[in-house]
Amino acid sequence: MKSGIERTDVVIVGAGFTGLSAALELKRAGVDFLVLEARERVGGRVEAVRNGLGERIDSGGQFLCQDMPELMALAKACGKSFVETYVEGEFITHPSMSVEEAERTYLVAMAIRERMNGIEPDDPSIAGLTVATWLERQSDTADAKAAFRSMIEGLWCLALDKVPLWYLIDNDRRITNEVFELQYFLGDTMQSLAEDLAAALGDRLRLNEAVTRVGRAPQGVRVSTGAATIEAREVLIALPPATAAKLDFAPALPAELASALGVWESGAVIKILVRYAKPFWREHGLCGMVMWRDQPGLFACDASTDADHAALVVFVGGPLALRWHPLSAAALRAEITARLVLALGPQAADIVDFSARDWTHDRWSGGAYSDLIIDVTARDAERVILAGAPPVHFAASELSPSFPGYVEGAIVAGRIAAGKIQSAIATRASGS
Ligand SMILES: Cc1cc2nc3c(=O)[nH]c(=O)nc-3n(C[C@H](O)[C@H](O)[C@H](O)COP(=O)(O)OP(=O)(O)OC[C@H]3O[C@@H](n4cnc5c(N)ncnc54)[C@H](O)[C@@H]3O)c2cc1C
Repeated sequence: MKSGIERTDVVIVGAGFTGLSAALELKRAGVDFLVLEARERVGGRVEAVRNGLGERIDSGGQFLCQDMPELMALAKACGKSFVETYVEGEFITHPSMSVEEAERTYLVAMAIRERMNGIEPDDPSIAGLTVATWLERQSDTADAKAAFRSMIEGLWCLALDKVPLWYLIDNDRRITNEVFELQYFLGDTMQSLAEDLAAALGDRLRLNEAVTRVGRAPQGVRVSTGAATIEAREVLIALPPATAAKLDFAPALPAELASALGVWESGAVIKILVRYAKPFWREHGLCGMVMWRDQPGLFACDASTDADHAALVVFVGGPLALRWHPLSAAALRAEITARLVLALGPQAADIVDFSARDWTHDRWSGGAYSDLIIDVTARDAERVILAGAPPVHFAASELSPSFPGYVEGAIVAGRIAAGKIQSAIATRASGS
């Protein structure tokens, strides 16, 4: 236990990519800071584990593409090797359809998504609508609607009847990649990039220090963990909104800000890496991508680092993840294996390693790729959270102007927050 009160300029709560990026920006500007991270590792929703073969694999955020400029530049600057996701050959839709039919279904689902994104988020006629209600009113075929639902629930990991239409449109418009978002992954894992960033922070980063309380002090804020009390001029809460809402703020946050933090729900996802001796699907002219029509939110694709390290990554997202969350490890493995066999044939049962990471209700990050707004009336929530209650500031991938819910978004959000905090410090110093 440390005794006494420590002092710094800025406390950053959370060492995900948002917190790490903010810290590096402050470091560059010569501002003193301290990053406090609850877990025994950095990276947050980016994480790596060793599978049963001793290989380090990304069990959280993994993929990136050339249209994510900040993350691409960072990975290149850190000398990371890029693995190109294998996409040659046909994808499978299960239960099976002809290739033409599968492509048509995909295109109609994309057409619904484009039609949706053509609506102005502020259009008063959609003000109270959830995505599910809007979808019901569309005249598309049942198959097209099912494909759209599966795509959206798989990407956002939450049931469509919870998500306000204006929010999904506003969010989706910020995800601007034109190439496949799973274009690359890093040979060394995305987590190794988080570790590289952390290494540059030295002793200004502390692990295993969960912040429990954010209070006020005469010169700014007083942040408490189980082991320490730190006074700072400013604090950046670099947590997903639903996780930030659980902190004890004393005095309480302004009512508008507290309710803006209260309208988010974390998605649910289980991510599985299935290792095979060889990428057998390629021999059958398949790219390894499978979209299940009978299980919205279930998706697989090739994640082999090379032909000797063959793997499929399987995502179980949204309501399906909530249903499968209570399953034992063996039962989950049986569910996934059975479905891979039906889609890709009997060789899919010859698994050499099966590693599953269930992010549902994760203690420190809430759940899936991102938190989503679930209150149709909360049109102002992001603006209110971003304004914060200085000296208390908020940032998270969810609140990014570009790629919310992605690592790219976290980097952008963290850097913007660091800029705001520098301005706040400068303003206070000049006494204005
Ligand atoms: C399974 C999965 C797969 C994904 N795949 C991709 C992908 O392929 N590509 C992509 O771009 N994105 C992907 N994402 C999303 C991406 O990982 C996130 O958007 C991004 O990492 C969020 O970063 P963040 O810093 O905003 O939040 P987080 O990473 O959640 O960071 C918050 C940090 O705060 C810490 N914390 C929480 N409470 C406290 C507390 N009280 N005190 C101190 N510390 C605390 C947490 O431990 C965590 O480290 C994926 C996410 C998941 C879960």
